[in-house]
Amino acid sequence: MSQSPDFNAIVQQVLSRLEDASKGSVALAGCRDVENYADASAKAQEIWHRDFGLDTRCQIIEEIRADLRPHIESLAKLAVEETGMGNLRDKIIKKTLTIEKTPGPESIKPHAITGDRGLVLEEHAPYGVIASIIPCTNPVATVIHNSICMISGGNSVIFAPHPKAVNVSLRTAEIIAQTLRACGAPDGLVSALPEPSMDNLGKLMKHPKVRLISATGGPGVVNAALTSGKPAVGAGPGNPPVVVDETANLEIAGKGVVDGAAFDNNLLCVCEKELIVVNCVADELKKRMFDHGAYELKDRKEIELLERTILNGDHTANKNFVGKDATYILEKIGLKVPASVRLVIVETTEDHPFAQEELLMPVLPLIRVPDFDAALAMAKRLEHNFQHSAVIYSTNIDHMSKMAREIETTMFVKNAPAYCSLGAESDCPVTLTIATATGQGATSPQSFCRLRRCVLSGAFRII
Ligand code: NAD
Repeated sequence: MSQSPDFNAIVQQVLSRLEDASKGSVALAGCRDVENYADASAKAQEIWHRDFGLDTRCQIIEEIRADLRPHIESLAKLAVEETGMGNLRDKIIKKTLTIEKTPGPESIKPHAITGDRGLVLEEHAPYGVIASIIPCTNPVATVIHNSICMISGGNSVIFAPHPKAVNVSLRTAEIIAQTLRACGAPDGLVSALPEPSMDNLGKLMKHPKVRLISATGGPGVVNAALTSGKPAVGAGPGNPPVVVDETANLEIAGKGVVDGAAFDNNLLCVCEKELIVVNCVADELKKRMFDHGAYELKDRKEIELLERTILNGDHTANKNFVGKDATYILEKIGLKVPASVRLVIVETTEDHPFAQEELLMPVLPLIRVPDFDAALAMAKRLEHNFQHSAVIYSTNIDHMSKMAREIETTMFVKNAPAYCSLGAESDCPVTLTIATATGQGATSPQSFCRLRRCVLSGAFRII
């Protein structure tokens, strides 16, 4: 990823600093019961909302950003060690972006309407206590993003980490909680369950003091949130297609597809998951992709071995290979390739499990189609109506507009990697919670607030 000088300087500083990570401790020490968490969180939220105004919140969020910066490298290392997924460099980039570019309280905008009959004021109010369920694919950046957004809006948050990433999510929440404590904010404003069993998750979601559920993960957790009977922010799975048409700049497309699909070993939900290419440019596109770290598997036997290795019997992704390096995956099927290889490409048909399943690993199926219309129709089918993300490389404005309209994804990127929609290499704020199922889209502090309206009849106009 190429970024502004400031951003690169921060990443370089972090990469060059060797820092010892002290392992995570529990955000609410000595407090293990969901009931206690909910009580402490509700009390903290009341004080936070009542006594900590927007200016103070802005200052405290800046303190949180400052206190997180020295921990970027240790948290990235811990995430890789604990989950066995992703790569250090990209995790450092992701965390840096999240710390620097997640919007704070200043992004929450009230709305006023005045007319002959007086003044109407609409404001974004906190829900109260939020239960935030965290995925193992993004156990640090999601905690940072959601903490900043949720407390900016006047809420408190109880995180439920993924069992595979408990330590690193707890450690992240603990750093944020320490800053809040040092700033005089009430204890329990940001906390995390140290034992996120299904039983505890159920209790947390059903707890009467929990007013909003933010669920980031696969279909199971999103359905659980949607059927909880409470308001929910459901950030679910995707299967983002990338279309390359006959008018695309193939150098930009070749580099962009590899950069996007290889980022953090394809762990991000927005990452390119299948490549649909108009036949007449497919060979040239592959050549450009090879220049940027792609490796094509062509031998039928090798492809079958890869299928048996990275897929389960039911054709879902084998979790042992989720988020692994391309070189590691190829080694497992007996191929030693240079360390510069970041992505494996395999030509498949549309019905192949590599195209149908969300693999979350740097293995990208490439499917040839005769023309753009066939590509768009296939992209719509392979997106499975998750309404998540999609990408097009094209210089044809009609193609770009048609795909943007018809694919109906929450995120749509033209001529750049899908991660640009998250705020990387682009001018939008960072989001790590893309609320697909519930429609809030790229979440920000306002997404975790409820809109309240006050009508003042017959007065308060100034004209
Ligand atoms: P996962 O569904 O296995 O787990 C996510 C969280 O949900 C964990 O904390 C887990 O303990 C909990 N959980 C799982 N099933 C549950 C159930 N039935 N009831 C209650 N809680 C449950 O997902 P993962 O492997 O950790 O993360 C990868 C998935 O998350 C991918 O599908 C990816 O696309 C998606 N994701 C989406 C976004 C987004 O913003 N839309 C962001 C990151 C990840």
